[in-house]
Amino acid sequence: KPRVGVLALQGDVREHELVLTNLGADVTLVRRPAELSSVSGLVLPGGESSVIDKLARLFGMQEPIKAAIADGMPMYGTCAGLILLADRITDGIAGQQTFGGLDVTVRRNAFGSQADSFETRVAVPALGTPDMHAVFIRAPIVEALGPRAEALASLEDGRVVAVRQAHLTGTSFHPEVTGDYRFHEYFLDLVRSA
Ligand code: GLN
Repeated sequence: KPRVGVLALQGDVREHELVLTNLGADVTLVRRPAELSSVSGLVLPGGESSVIDKLARLFGMQEPIKAAIADGMPMYGTCAGLILLADRITDGIAGQQTFGGLDVTVRRNAFGSQADSFETRVAVPALGTPDMHAVFIRAPIVEALGPRAEALASLEDGRVVAVRQAHLTGTSFHPEVTGDYRFHEYFLDLVRSA
């Protein structure tokens, strides 16, 4: 059984915990460094990235998470979680930091008020067919990818909404609320082969 964690500082922790448990993983809610040390992979949930960043620093979790990323621990971030894995963000609140690891630039709240939340289908070639039903909630967009990051999915207008780099995966949208858990399976496969 893969032992994985869900970063449980803020956000939709419970949804990811349920998905991962249903997929057969042994799930720990991670709030402290010792809990992070006990898992082989970590999911960063959706929520508010600036709040998760602040709480991570307050709880002494920023450095351990950065170290785990540098050490090759598989991580999967949805929405706010993608923002936290990005090396660069635009439109962060003053002083907002990320853990980094993905060689991308991410814009927060990229769809603005005209499309605060919406659902659409996106092709994810790496996950096969059918296309994925994707739920976007005040979602970020990947504005630029460095050479080490690979786009896994784009909207019809070409904007990138899923990325991977080695052991790190991020999506702008929230598979944990749709019943299509192929990204969670993909993450668990990376944990098993790490
Ligand atoms: N807008 C949020 C942020 O900046 C992300 C929203 C989400 O995770 N659904 O962190």
